[in-house]
Amino acid sequence: MTTFEIPTEQWAQVVEKTGGPVQYKKIPVPKPGPDEVLINIKYSGVCHTDLHALNGDWPLPTKMPFVGGHEGAGVVVARGELVNDIEIGDYAGIKWLNGSCLTCSFCRQSDESLCPDALLSGYTVDGSFQQYAIGKAAHVARIPKDVSLEAVAPILCAGLTVYKALKESGARPGQQVAIVGAGGGLGSLAIQYAKAMGLHTISIDGGEEKGQLCKSLGSEDYIDFTKSKNVVQDVKAATPDGFGPHAVLLLAVSEGPFQQASEYVRSRGSIVAVGLPAGAYLKAPVFDTVVRMISIKGSYVGNRQDTAEAIDFFRRGLVSSPYKVVGLSKLQEVFDLLKAGKIAGRYVVDTSK
Ligand code: NAD
Ligand code: ZN
Repeated sequence: MTTFEIPTEQWAQVVEKTGGPVQYKKIPVPKPGPDEVLINIKYSGVCHTDLHALNGDWPLPTKMPFVGGHEGAGVVVARGELVNDIEIGDYAGIKWLNGSCLTCSFCRQSDESLCPDALLSGYTVDGSFQQYAIGKAAHVARIPKDVSLEAVAPILCAGLTVYKALKESGARPGQQVAIVGAGGGLGSLAIQYAKAMGLHTISIDGGEEKGQLCKSLGSEDYIDFTKSKNVVQDVKAATPDGFGPHAVLLLAVSEGPFQQASEYVRSRGSIVAVGLPAGAYLKAPVFDTVVRMISIKGSYVGNRQDTAEAIDFFRRGLVSSPYKVVGLSKLQEVFDLLKAGKIAGRYVVDTSK
């Protein structure tokens, strides 16, 4: 069996107060418990959720201080005595759902993200913006050895989440799906999963760079919400019969689109809320929802099987996040760009720099 030398200290980005900035400093390397593994994180994607956590946007407290990050890809370097189905040296990933009880009625029905005792990476337990992170062995993502760790990192949250949301939407091959926030981390993967699943996509985001990205990833239409005079009309016009898309994936980080989607979704269509703008509400007229039979639902990451499937799409070359790599030490700069809405695709941090 391979063995790894594990240091006692490591570099990490630590949130010490709500609002930041994150502190790049040395902290102790944690030790895995009996049912846990220690992963030497090589790369971690930076999700907008990490920025929400830093800013304390949600009605759920973080641990404090904490290490964010939940798209961490690396190598298993230690395991607890109860772990026997993942080997030292295997590739593995820290995802948002770090652990769940596996025995409650939600876990039993594979709705692990609904477990009342779920542990959340980079939120209620330390995540992947450090060189060594802990995950419950049952939950860490199994990553095949033949994939690039930097390229697979964004699949661990962004890819998994949009893949699950597309399944939850009920949209079937040949149908249209509107992707709101299509040029961001989740959106740029949603376009590709949708395409691989046989769906047509209508992308909605702001600015030319994001428009070019959406088109280059295979989206048939791009609507620039900063320029469109009437987003509702434009979305409907992008569907062949003008009745609107069969599904809408709401991935945006602002409330506006959550109030608007019911105006352009097709009758019998579904609206899937995924983005989590602070303090936002969904709104739809009861009359329209009833007489047009609109479904409105939320979708929250995915379970272990969804994770394996989402990674398999990546391994087969069907999806790949457009990403840029920077050192972990530059994390605050990535947050600043994310806050300004300036990131097309994903940033991935390299924990060695
Ligand atoms: P991101 O910042 O990379 O992308 C968000 C995109 O939304 C940006 O491209 C931005 O330009 C766009 N946008 C903003 N306002 C818009 C508008 N009015 N219309 C259209 N587009 C608009 O963020 P991300 O990492 O892709 O995350 C998106 C959201 O999803 C965040 O709120 C995040 O917390 C949430 N999230 C939810 C889950 C889940 O399980 N439900 C999982 C991961 C992330
Ligand atoms: Zn995420």
